[in-house]
This record gives sequence, structure tokens and C-alpha cells, in this order.
Amino acid sequence: MLEASHHYFHQAADVIGLAPKVREILLTPNRVIKVEIVEEADDGQLMHYTGFRVQHNNARGPCKGGLRYHPTMDEDHAAALANLMTWKTAIVDVPFGGAKGGIDCDPSQMSRFELERVTRRFVEQCKEIIGPTIDIPAPDVNTNADVMAWIMDEYSRHAGFSPGVVTGKPLHLFGSDGREEATGRGVMYALEEALRDRGGEISGTTVALQGFGNVGSHAARLIAERGGKIVAVGDHVGGVSNEAGLDVTALVAWATEHRTVAGFAGGDAFEGPEIITWPADVLIPAALEDAIDENNAADVRAQIIIEAANAPTTPEANAILHDKGVLIVPDILANAGGVTVSYFEWAQNIQQFRWELDRVNTELEKYMRRAYGSVREVAREKNVDLRTAAFVLAIQRVGRAALSRRSVHETIDLS
Ligand code: NAD
Repeated sequence: MLEASHHYFHQAADVIGLAPKVREILLTPNRVIKVEIVEEADDGQLMHYTGFRVQHNNARGPCKGGLRYHPTMDEDHAAALANLMTWKTAIVDVPFGGAKGGIDCDPSQMSRFELERVTRRFVEQCKEIIGPTIDIPAPDVNTNADVMAWIMDEYSRHAGFSPGVVTGKPLHLFGSDGREEATGRGVMYALEEALRDRGGEISGTTVALQGFGNVGSHAARLIAERGGKIVAVGDHVGGVSNEAGLDVTALVAWATEHRTVAGFAGGDAFEGPEIITWPADVLIPAALEDAIDENNAADVRAQIIIEAANAPTTPEANAILHDKGVLIVPDILANAGGVTVSYFEWAQNIQQFRWELDRVNTELEKYMRRAYGSVREVAREKNVDLRTAAFVLAIQRVGRAALSRRSVHETIDLS
């Protein structure tokens, strides 16, 4: 996975002729942490998991990035996702660097108490390397506001009251209005901008969506509210489709109760992976990485892909889709709404001040549209696709900050 993110980095670095020395400075992570978590399960057996945190770059501010609880979590995933966070925070221009981490556990097989114990042990092992001015975790796959509350509580035992140590907290515990739906809302703005580039609008546009968790479900709801038709949704269990458009509110209620969209009565069932090649105007992968690869890319029928998930498209698939003329809005732009509102939450925590929901959403829209506009401008100027343009912009911003903070022997041109 790290290889894929490096591939895109070098593709963009080649466009601006970036010196090898700067590539090495920008690609090398600041810190890679691995911790062993051994805790008692409810039945007295031992649970043994491994936790990871990779702090990739802090040239533009404290490291920032999600925590993922998933059996596939490992150092490679953490490093690749931390890398993406560095570029993402630069693209939306929030004062953070990039980090990512997680634990290789499966929360669906754990009780709430087991999850809490494992989370607290992880924080205990990492408490010296996280903090409001060092590294600020946030929710990602299989982690939510409850997990963030435990992190805040455990960290505060060590450092004193510290709401700014994590974002995505519950509203009643210094969370921000609008944070939970922020990534999905940002995805909706990215879709609006992409449709504008292709001369369309959300109303009447058909959308196929993979993943119906935090990001996917909020994106679906907001797109449906604007007249878009969610014609198919697939997840890790199965999928459901309806040509006339799924009733998203009812689907959210079903998925909340059953932890899957499979079995929903308001449409026809299909096998989950079919979602990638579903006949729709737009495909939104909002699940895990590598969903679109060289085996299914040629069969993708959507003309626009909004990468709500991190790294859903392999470089091989990206090349195939590019040749087919598919417009891809890359992850580091499309799903940046989450970290943007995380920044608002952190800023509110530090100021001990609360923003109204309207202000959060208005600012989020401004940040997302401005970021999209900047990436579009670079794409036109350099005659490259949006992903390459997004990486170029990020490399320039992070590179300038990194090089201003240290001396190098030669003059480096980042234009
Ligand atoms: P989540 O845990 O809330 O939901 C994950 C969804 O993916 C679920 O619907 C699950 O069924 C589905 N899924 C899991 N494995 C699958 C598989 N093999 N095939 C099909 N579907 C599968 O997670 P989330 O927070 O919504 O995150 C989704 C993606 O968005 C991830 O790539 C994450 O890194 C990225 N992301 C999340 C945020 C955020 O704020 N939560 C921000 C930026 C990016």
C-alpha cells in the first residue's frame, strides 16, 4: 500500500522535477511506533493485539490522522495512510502534518468493555508521543466518538484536562457540531465540483456507493437530499439496489440495526463486489483500500469516481481509468472534509469556545471548494489529472514548509 502512495508521489514529483534529496526528506516518516497490547478478555482469556502509530511529517503543524481498528492493520497500512494525511492536510490548508495508526483487532468480535480496555492500554503505551501540539488522533474505520472519549479520558489522566488530544469526540464532551458527517459532506461538495467540471449537477445523477459506514451513509444522505439517486450500495456482507433510487433514510435505519445494508427490503440484493462495476453516473468507493484494481477497472461504468475511502484505487487501475476518460477526484482531496472539521474541533478545544453548526458547515464548504479550485488550477496549468495535481500542490506546500525549517546546501525550486 505504501508503494502505491509513493508511486503517486513520484509521478507528481517528476512533473515539477523535484530533487532526489527533497523526495527523501518528504517521504521519510518522522516516527514509527509499534506497541504490544495484552489485556484480559471478559472471559478471562488473554487478548493480544499490536498497535501502530506512524507520524509522517510535521513541517506544517502537529501530526493529525485517524485510528483504525481492523485485523489487516499493520505498519505498512499506517505508514501509507500517514503519508496520505500529510498531503491531505496540505491540500485543504489546515495547520497539521500527517499521521495514522490503529490496532489489528476486530471490534465486531469484542465487547464494549474489551474495546475500552484495549484502547486505554494503547493510549497508555503512546501517551508520550501524542498530545494537542504533537499528534492528534481521530476516528477511522471501526472507531467512533466513544473510542475518542476513552482516548481523551486516558490521556487526560496523564497530562491533565486535554480535550484537544483527539477529534471526533462526542458533542457533549467537547466534540464539534458537524464533525460526524463532515467527511461525507466534503465528499458531496467534491461531487458537486466534479459534476460542474463535466457540465452536470447532483439532481438526477445516479450514484453507486461502496461502504455505508460513517462516510458512505452521510454522503448518501446529503447527495439524496440534493436530488441525487443512490441506485446501489454494497458493503462487506452484500449489496442492495433500486433503479428508482434507494430510500436512504430507511437504509440508514436498517444498516444501523443490522450493521450491514444486506437484507434491506427496499431494493434487490446483489453480491457486494459487483458494486464497483455498477451502471451509474458516479461511483463512490467509501470502504477500504484497493477496491478498484486491475481486475475490475476496465469494467467500471461510472464516468466520475469520488474517492471517499483512502487509497481505493490501485495505480494499475488508475492508469486504466485514466485511459477510459474517467474523472477521478483523489482521496487526498475528496475525503478531506473530515480533517477540516477536525481542525475546527481542535481550534474550538484550544480556545474553549463553541461554534454553531452553521458556521462549521459554511467554513467546511469554503475550505473544500477552495481546495478543489486550487487543485483544478494546478491540473490545468501543468496539464495533468486531478490526482497528480493534488500531489503537486501538496508537495509544494509541505516542501516549502520543510525547507524553511532547515538549511539545505542548494537552492531548491518547487514550482
Ligand atoms: P466505517 O467503519 O464507519 O465504515 C466502513 C464501511 O466499509 C462499512 O459499511 C463496511 O461494511 C464497509 N466495508 C468494510 N470492508 C468492506 C469490503 N471488503 N467490501 C465492501 N465494503 C466493506 O468507516 P468510515 O469511517 O466510514 O471510513 C470509510 C473509509 O473512509 C476508509 O477508507 C477511511 O479511511 C476513509 N476516511 C474516513 C474518514 C472519517 O472521518 N471517518 C475521513 C477520511 C477518510
